[in-house]
Order: sequence, then structure tokens, then C-alpha cells
Amino acid sequence: MSIEMRDDDHRVDPSISCDHCDAVCCRLTVVLAGDDVIPEPLVEVRADGVRLMARAADGWCAALDRAHMRCGIYDHRPGICRKFAMGGAYCRDERERYRLAPHTIDSHLLP
Ligand code: SF4
Ligand code: SF4
Repeated sequence: MSIEMRDDDHRVDPSISCDHCDAVCCRLTVVLAGDDVIPEPLVEVRADGVRLMARAADGWCAALDRAHMRCGIYDHRPGICRKFAMGGAYCRDERERYRLAPHTIDSHLLP
């Protein structure tokens, strides 16, 4: 899957930290690539065969460590999660979306 990064991705806000965030990027739809090795219980396969990270009923990824609100499979997280820049444009967008509508389950694709 090709990933298109926005022009302003390089502009990272250094004041943003995952340590002070509700892991809002982990509410995005995560499409898995062929080389991602994810435990099957954490994977959802769509009718068209596309493999996604499964999500819990509250909208957060099934792999999220709820006690600490951080990735529970960090060392093995999908490649697309690795590309998501803390404080970058997508991060800022998702944080703002969450701030405005925290109870809306996000259906945006993880870029
Ligand atoms: S990358 Fe951004 S949205 Fe994701 S947990 Fe870190 S600060 Fe929050
Ligand atoms: S795999 Fe980890 S980093 Fe990726 S969305 Fe799920 S909890 Fe977040």
C-alpha cells in the first residue's frame, strides 16, 4: 500500500508527547501490510480480504494496553503505525478531532 505524506508532515510540534495523550491515533483504522506479523486474535479480516487491526467496541485498537494507553505490541506494531509521527500533521489533526468529538469512533485510515 502506498502512503502519501502531507507537505507539512515534517513540521513536528515538539510540545506534543504520547505520554500525555489518550492514544487517539490508535482509534484510526489500521490496514495491515503483507509483512506485518500480528497475533491473529488482534486481526480483523474484511469481507474483501483486507486485513485490519481489530478494534474494541470503544473504538480503540485491540492491541492497546488500556492500563497505560500505549501500544501493547510496540516492538511488533504494524509498519504503518511506525510511520505515524508524534506531533506531526496527522497526529495534530487526530488530537484536534478527538478534542472536538471525543465519543465519536474514528473511521479515518491511518495514513
Ligand atoms: S502519536 Fe500523537 S495521537 Fe498518537 S499517541 Fe502520540 S501524541 Fe497521541
Ligand atoms: S497496533 Fe499499537 S500503535 Fe498501532 S494502532 Fe494498535 S495500539 Fe496503536
